[in-house]
Amino acid sequence: MTEKRYELLNWASALLKAHHRDTNIGEILLCERLQISRTALLAGLREPVSDQDASWVRECVSDHVYHGTPVQYMIGSAPFYGRSFKVTPDVLIPRQETEELVWRVGQWADRYFSNQKQLAVCDIGTGSGAIAVTLALEHPEWHVTAVDVSAKALDVARQNAALLGAKVNFRQGDLLEPLNGESFDLLVSNPPYITSQEMDRLDDTVSHFEPHLALFGGEDGLDFYRRIINDLPLIFGQSPYFIAAFEIGAYQGKAVKELIHSAFPHHIESLSIEKDIAGYDRNVLAVLRKPAL
Ligand code: SAM
Ligand code: GLN
Repeated sequence: MTEKRYELLNWASALLKAHHRDTNIGEILLCERLQISRTALLAGLREPVSDQDASWVRECVSDHVYHGTPVQYMIGSAPFYGRSFKVTPDVLIPRQETEELVWRVGQWADRYFSNQKQLAVCDIGTGSGAIAVTLALEHPEWHVTAVDVSAKALDVARQNAALLGAKVNFRQGDLLEPLNGESFDLLVSNPPYITSQEMDRLDDTVSHFEPHLALFGGEDGLDFYRRIINDLPLIFGQSPYFIAAFEIGAYQGKAVKELIHSAFPHHIESLSIEKDIAGYDRNVLAVLRKPAL
């Protein structure tokens, strides 16, 4: 007898639950396989599922349950800020909390650059391009440049910009080095920030599948912040303010704030740690005054 959608989904959620995995994964996979929305899926729960579709879902669910393969790599995409981004194992899967960084960048830019519309913005360590592409689409008048050291990641980011119709300049290289000689008003970065200790304790879905190049931030997880903050003056332009906006690990707020404070002790207009929706410290935002530099 042919299986009904709800029967397949019940099988999936029971297995996922028993292995402490996200129980929604069966629904995500079936929607993707049938190319329908979640609403359409739920409206037709008594519809039959073909044997081929059912066995694809079963294989993917088992792969996730027993090996930890992230569902986003299986379906090749991940949602970010209301859009779908292509992802491959060469890029970090964009996280929900990173959407908050994108939103805050818009808020702070409005506050400090209210008279200036055409901001020059750079995204350091762009990965899938989630931050850079979203900023370019949400603020079409901005000039967005995105850097990554990984050619394979940049390839995915370029495809996302093309698929979503965003104009972004892509550069391959080490942090600010490929921006040599250019100036910017705002830098945004979600650099690798996982510490040595945390690397050993990461969930298998992350540690066995996502690129270590995108995760490991050195012994204390702060290597990339140190280097970026140190090099910031190389990309300062003419406007009176420069904004630096970082995503940080939940326990890195004070340390990153201190790095900025000691690099620019007399030029800080505003420096704050912002929490994510789950209540963890997640962003450090700095507004630096430049004339005195
Ligand atoms: N911005 C994406 C996001 O928020 O989903 C990806 C962030 S991921 C945590 C960090 C990214 O930094 C990875 O794509 C990695 O390849 C890149 N990266 C690592 N070392 C780098 C370096 N020295 N210079 C430039 N990018 C680097
Ligand atoms: N948020 C990611 C994680 O917890 C880490 C991303 C990063 O290092 N910037 O797995």
